[in-house]
Amino acid sequence: MISIEKALEIVHKQEIEKSIREVALENSHGFYLAEEITSPFDLPSFDNSAMDGYAVSGLSDTYQIIGEIPAGDTSDKSLQKGEAIRIFTGAKVPENTTAVVMQEKTEVENSVLHIDGSVSEGQHIRQRGNELSLGETVFSHGHLISPASVGLIGSLGLNQVKVFNKPDIRIISTGNELIPPGEPKSEGQIYESNSFSLQSALQRYGFECREKIHIEDDFSAIKSGIADYLDRSDILLLSGGISVGDYDFVKQALVENGVTQLFYKVFQKPGKPLYFGRKENKFVFALPGNPASSLTCFYIHVLPLLQRFSGAAEAGLKRLSIPISHQFEYGSDRPIFLKAHVENKTASILNRQSSSMIHSMAMGNALVFFDGPKSVPEGEMVEVILI
Ligand code: AMP
Ligand code: MG
Repeated sequence: MISIEKALEIVHKQEIEKSIREVALENSHGFYLAEEITSPFDLPSFDNSAMDGYAVSGLSDTYQIIGEIPAGDTSDKSLQKGEAIRIFTGAKVPENTTAVVMQEKTEVENSVLHIDGSVSEGQHIRQRGNELSLGETVFSHGHLISPASVGLIGSLGLNQVKVFNKPDIRIISTGNELIPPGEPKSEGQIYESNSFSLQSALQRYGFECREKIHIEDDFSAIKSGIADYLDRSDILLLSGGISVGDYDFVKQALVENGVTQLFYKVFQKPGKPLYFGRKENKFVFALPGNPASSLTCFYIHVLPLLQRFSGAAEAGLKRLSIPISHQFEYGSDRPIFLKAHVENKTASILNRQSSSMIHSMAMGNALVFFDGPKSVPEGEMVEVILI
């Protein structure tokens, strides 16, 4: 059995062969950058107006209006002192512009512009390069491309970006008692839910489950199911059959498929019987069957591997410090992830914490982490992972 920290370190230290491809800008969201992006020009690349109004030259109360510049006008205009030009948001300001005056603060009479109030030098002009300078590093390798990142990359004129490929992921659920939702159930059977929650967790973080299959607790069926999926996947997730029961065949089936164990059993609650292994550049997590264990292990241990495999500069969910809304006592010495709900900047630990229950996880939006027995008064800061 190893500690949570050691397990995370083992995942973190894996050498992963990553592959790169070029994607169109509109398909780049959610990928991690496989190149550094520097600004090919000053942004904005010309001084332009932040308002609909008038570009004026010199500081005065009145100006002579000499024309207009709509957005997109590429001609070179210039002003003499005492002159103004009608200008629109985003249009290039003419040479010798002192300021832009918003149209709400002006009146026009016979081509003469009268200013309400005063003009201050530089007002309402977006200076060339005030957002980015030519050559400035915009994004480093491993940056997760967000919608705003897509916008920024586009505004730099790039329509293609190099990104890391995402892993091919497949899921195998095991267990004789499991039947798919939608089918009638007999006494002694339960509905298979882990593959659905795992699939959804993958989607939530920008990954995709290529295929999934359910296999009974039969050693040779599990062995050949693993062989088949491992062949076609970068990452294989298994659910169930990894504990110490007589029908838990997953570990041996992995051995016989040439998978090398990197760890088995983590000193944590829930999710103790967690297995991690690799075969060449392929990785396997065998997750405990209990629904809350399986999903907790995904958030804490699987996600960082998926992110690193995809080229992420930083992996794992952020941990925050948030006050607890009520007094709480935790007795066991095993570090624990408790299902919780965070609202109004406080965390409430929910009832129904058993690893067999997914209900509290479904009601909550966070895990509270205690590294050992604890008695915390209301208002004490606790470590929270938003899920
Ligand atoms: P196991 O890890 O196979 O010993 O399973 C532990 C518990 O989790 C048992 O109560 C199983 O019925 C339940 N379980 C296993 N796999 C699933 C699954 N895919 N969906 C829902 N419950 C499961
Ligand atoms: Mg089982």
